[in-house]
Amino acid sequence: MVGKDIFEKLIKEYTEKQWGRPCNELPAFIIKRLPVRLVFDNNYFNDAYQGIPIGGYNKLIDALLKDIDCKTDTDFFKSDYNDWRKYAKHLVYTGPLDEYFGYQYGKLDWRTVSFKTRIEDTPNYQGNAVVNYTSHEMSYTRVIEHKHFEMFGQAIYDCPKTVISEEYSTEYKDGMEPYYPVNDEMNNLLAEKYREIAAQEQDVIFGGRLAEYKYYDMAPIVEKVISMFKTKEL
Ligand SMILES: Cc1cc2nc3c(=O)[nH]c(=O)nc-3n(C[C@H](O)[C@H](O)[C@H](O)COP(=O)(O)OP(=O)(O)OC[C@H]3O[C@@H](n4cnc5c(N)ncnc54)[C@H](O)[C@@H]3O)c2cc1C
Repeated sequence: MVGKDIFEKLIKEYTEKQWGRPCNELPAFIIKRLPVRLVFDNNYFNDAYQGIPIGGYNKLIDALLKDIDCKTDTDFFKSDYNDWRKYAKHLVYTGPLDEYFGYQYGKLDWRTVSFKTRIEDTPNYQGNAVVNYTSHEMSYTRVIEHKHFEMFGQAIYDCPKTVISEEYSTEYKDGMEPYYPVNDEMNNLLAEKYREIAAQEQDVIFGGRLAEYKYYDMAPIVEKVISMFKTKEL
């Protein structure tokens, strides 16, 4: 897609850090989802309208869930909700696909991410919300400077400090939070076996990146939920 120089400088080591595997063991679709452009548009996505909610996602979600009963810190499998038919006719399950079936065919692999967050004594650490580090020299994949998501111009300098997070890509182990499915051949075959028994589960919708074992960006998963709602699948 981009030739050897750009592949080696930008893609190879970054992808290997991200996935913990050599590039030639990874499926090609991982790289195919990167947009390649020959213009000076440095957005990641191609969408005409892009942004993040003013005040952050918590504000958006709080408003969406107003007057809706919602319990956090409640594990579906360790709570009374596991016996969900007492409470509802349908279940939308968004947890890991293999966990729902008690790992009966074995465990799926995941990648996860850990963050090291600290306060820096400068108003502007890196001039941008996200800077990616593409070589093996740095063990983190990117550094997030949170204030740039919300503040612009003088506001950045009115606050003399800044919060940054280094992001480390990590192999998933029990007890961690699973983030990305590892869609190599072995895991895809295993996920397919689980999907076959999932299709027989009455009144249960397996939805999202964990339950479908599929990578989703935010806009596509929201779009999918809205379209399922409109076609009365939900
Ligand atoms: C580090 C990182 C950065 C990302 N950056 C971007 C980005 O810049 N842009 C973008 O578009 N997308 C980004 N994404 C992807 C985005 O997070 C996903 O697209 C989105 O969260 C998918 O929504 P979902 O509903 O499928 O899954 P989730 O948002 O993961 O929802 C699943 C829910 O199920 C809950 N759950 C799981 N198991 C249980 C259980 N046993 N009991 C109770 N609840 C349970 C989880 O707590 C979670 O709330 C990023 C993802 C990661 C990990």
